[in-house]
Amino acid sequence: MFDRLSSLIIALTMVAIAAILSALAGGQALTITLLALAGCAAAAIVYASSPAATNAGADTHAPPSSSVPSLLRHPGFARWADEEAAPMIGTTDNIVTLANKAAIRLLGPHIIGADIRTAIRHPAAAEWLADAGAAGARQEVSLADFPRPGHRWTMRAAMLSGSDRIIILSDRSAIDAADRMRSDFVANASHELRTPLAAILGYVETLQDAESDAGGDTRRRFLSIIEREARRMQQLVLDLLSISRIEADRFRRPAAPVELSAIVSASVAQLRGGGDPRAQEIVLKLPEAPLSIMGDEAQLGQLVHNIITNAMKYGRAGTPIIVALEREAGRVELSVTDEGDGIERRHLPRLTERFYRVDEARSRSVGGTGLGLAIVKHISERHKGELDIASEVGRGTRVSVSFPAAGERA
Ligand code: ADP
Repeated sequence: MFDRLSSLIIALTMVAIAAILSALAGGQALTITLLALAGCAAAAIVYASSPAATNAGADTHAPPSSSVPSLLRHPGFARWADEEAAPMIGTTDNIVTLANKAAIRLLGPHIIGADIRTAIRHPAAAEWLADAGAAGARQEVSLADFPRPGHRWTMRAAMLSGSDRIIILSDRSAIDAADRMRSDFVANASHELRTPLAAILGYVETLQDAESDAGGDTRRRFLSIIEREARRMQQLVLDLLSISRIEADRFRRPAAPVELSAIVSASVAQLRGGGDPRAQEIVLKLPEAPLSIMGDEAQLGQLVHNIITNAMKYGRAGTPIIVALEREAGRVELSVTDEGDGIERRHLPRLTERFYRVDEARSRSVGGTGLGLAIVKHISERHKGELDIASEVGRGTRVSVSFPAAGERA
């Protein structure tokens, strides 16, 4: 009913009134003094021992806004937020009160204490922040070209008590790049298939033309072009299937040891048995001792085949193609060296991209699909291999892959 201090004053006043009334009623001075002192002492004891509950009660009923429990002010929250990889910003009345390490890295330390609309300078962000939290407001907003052209982030907010909110930013640039790569790949593959298909249809129509007086020789020439283009399409489809199979397996490490010398010998024997005279120029340099790596036999066979056939296609006819296997410091290195025009330095980093060719016409004329080295790169990665392409214009090219030997740590 009364606060502590008021109660004490009232108690002391009542002791004083009782003492005055006792004196007026003719009581003894000593008795009245003793009773007054006892009353004061009792009031003081009660005052000292009563809790300050009345004060606290007044705060709970009308709390200042800063004492509302909020996640932003939780002692462990800032520490937890710093561990998060995504930038997180806490705001109160749109003023940034908290930013985790990732947010400081992205936006700078000056954002603490700034208005969130100036901290994240983007038109879409400003518009979204104005009505975030309103009924029907979008859950997430996309920030194109933020913080630099070509990048994209998204931003979402969690509303907390009062005017507090947490804003979380996510980097979508890598996902966008992967989407772009996927659609470029589909467009490139369609283009690659369309070119031989158009040639096949053209020659078939010419042969079918009743007016056509194509004689035996012309007919045979047209048919051989049709066959070549159909084989090109077939190779392309096989390479596309290979790429998708290898990609599907990419997180599955090969679990069995395989003998690399045997795989290389088998590949070379198969090429020598084919009709290409260049295969007879392969010089095989294998060590006596077997060289084992953890691997997928079929995929390694394809890797060896692709690297050697490139040397056959792009090396100069009449020059040797040296295929060597060596063991060095816990690794096994396969290398294929040819003599030919070589590759200009600027092309080297892009050779393993799908459909990248230095000279498109030349690649097509030798039956290339532009996927051979992309397949090599994927197979090499699955086997923890290190692929290296070294070339000198006018001299030739050396392609090597070094794998951890079986039993060695990668
Ligand atoms: P392709 O089917 O066109 O041969 P690859 O992916 O195997 O495709 O190779 C990509 C490009 O790299 C080739 O088009 C060619 O320009 C170049 N290249 C690859 N290997 C060699 C080599 N041994 N010598 C010269 N150029 C090469």
